[in-house]
Amino acid sequence: MLTHIPFKKCCNDLVFEAARKMGVSHWKIGLTYVNQDKKDTEHESYDDFVAASICVDRRYTTATVKVRPPVWRMWLKKDFAGMKTTLFHETAHICTQHMIDLIDLPYKTEDEIKDAWESLTELISRIAQQDFCYNVEDKKIAFNKLKK
Ligand SMILES: [Zn+2]
Repeated sequence: MLTHIPFKKCCNDLVFEAARKMGVSHWKIGLTYVNQDKKDTEHESYDDFVAASICVDRRYTTATVKVRPPVWRMWLKKDFAGMKTTLFHETAHICTQHMIDLIDLPYKTEDEIKDAWESLTELISRIAQQDFCYNVEDKKIAFNKLKK
């Protein structure tokens, strides 16, 4: 995984496509690859490994995406939709970072804030993945279904 050029190019392309669609293409985004599986401890209901994560630095508009073995396994299974969903989600964290930094709601628990943050991030990720078109007859913008 660490030296597989087509895999790394695919990950890079997906992150930069996401960044362009989300309006954060001016950010300097780096990708690192980690060969070790890590259990997801943030979500109690998940009995899963972390696929990817992101570190966002708003001050310097830089971010680092950490790609882990589950993404490599998606690549081996040709699950490009899974790779796209994962890497779009991580990139969407750049969009929501300033909002989570502003949050100061003492009546909310840390878990509730994290859930809201994850939901908002996932929503932005999905909006960026959807192709939409303008219907001339209805004069409306229509979203296509998410490609799986
Ligand atoms: Zn997330």
